[in-house]
Amino acid sequence: MGDGAALREEVRSWLAAEWRDDRPRREFVDAVIDAGYAVPSWPRQWFGLGLTLDDSRVVGEEFARVGAPGARQDVHNLWANTLLAYGTDALKTKLIRPLLRSEVSMCLLYSEPGAGSDLAGLQTRAVRDGNEFVVNGQKVWTSGAASAEYGMLIARTDWDVPKHKGISFFFMPMRQPGVEVRPLKQITGEAHFNEVFLTDVRVPEENLLGELNDGWRVLQTALAYERSVMGDQARGPSAGANHEVDLWALARSVGRDDDPVIRQSIARVHTLRLVNRWNAARAKAALQQGSSSPILSLGKLAMSRILHEGAHVQRLILGAEAMLHGPDNPRADAANFLSLNAYFTSIGGGTDQIQRNIIGERVLGLPREPDVDRDVPFRQVRKA
Ligand SMILES: Cc1cc2nc3c(=O)[nH]c(=O)nc-3n(C[C@H](O)[C@H](O)[C@H](O)COP(=O)(O)OP(=O)(O)OC[C@H]3O[C@@H](n4cnc5c(N)ncnc54)[C@H](O)[C@@H]3O)c2cc1C
Repeated sequence: MGDGAALREEVRSWLAAEWRDDRPRREFVDAVIDAGYAVPSWPRQWFGLGLTLDDSRVVGEEFARVGAPGARQDVHNLWANTLLAYGTDALKTKLIRPLLRSEVSMCLLYSEPGAGSDLAGLQTRAVRDGNEFVVNGQKVWTSGAASAEYGMLIARTDWDVPKHKGISFFFMPMRQPGVEVRPLKQITGEAHFNEVFLTDVRVPEENLLGELNDGWRVLQTALAYERSVMGDQARGPSAGANHEVDLWALARSVGRDDDPVIRQSIARVHTLRLVNRWNAARAKAALQQGSSSPILSLGKLAMSRILHEGAHVQRLILGAEAMLHGPDNPRADAANFLSLNAYFTSIGGGTDQIQRNIIGERVLGLPREPDVDRDVPFRQVRKA
């Protein structure tokens, strides 16, 4: 395909024939899936074209050029990518297309009251009962649980092996008796995440991803996709808004564009954004189907710093106005939202400190953190 010129031409002609702003979104996304452009680097058997990730990027660039939806899901669709890498054929047949059409809502059932950064300490259990698993336990900080149809669940299936080894990974149906979701209010005033209580919840065995007791491996892939997504995008003050507030335009609008401290602060945020974009491109190149790249931790950590610094500079520019709050003061309101919401990226998907540990150990090759429980059967580990 050379530099991708022929492919680019092909995608352009396809878009010229198929894409119109007023075309119903669902119908268009169906056409994108059928053409293989939703997941170009995936195998043909599963809606792909078997292209390289570089060629897939060409497809994505052409879609972005005309503002058409549905492409690049081989990089951005956490759920579908995890399912493709580890799911049973039965589950893939049932769910991949609906996931690519964004018609199945999902959540992540990982964290527990005693297992966040040390996720391998989780105590939710899944016990086989015929051709099903029965799940009991509690999850917490589960974003989107109230509306989710499935949760990607990690649960303990063997208590007699060390903590990382007895965990399994499931697509758990959420809409059934025994799943109780209670919302938690965030510092921003929203309530996107929840506590989830699980009592005798049933999961069919075909919803097991990877081998029984090998869920830690599946989790690494899912976390890598999550960090990749969080490393190059973050939420703004309203749905769909970009966090990359134009700090320069804001400084001009309040007459502070000649303040040397503000100019320097804006330049620093700009540099961080630019370098992170380059890093994201490098990490994406390293991310192959079914494997994880520790370089993604750099991107997630960088995005966390960019969001905190960007919000700080926004408040610096606004000065005393930043103390105001509420819809009567939209500029200050947006700046304050971004300040508070920056913690989303520095905690969710693994905290900044944990990303630094990963970078230290897996990118820089530093010695591992001491972990006294690592080789002890989980049943004998002191529990939180
Ligand atoms: C907005 C948001 C959305 C979330 N969505 C989900 C979700 O959908 N599903 C889900 O399962 N979870 C979700 N989480 C939970 C998130 O993954 C956990 O909060 C996170 O992993 C940290 O765990 P913890 O809160 O138990 O903190 P802890 O693990 O108790 O950590 C407390 C502090 O100690 C530090 N620390 C802990 N261990 C180490 C170490 N080894 N080295 C250095 N420092 C350490 C941490 O960095 C942190 O500052 C979400 C969190 C947020 C903020």
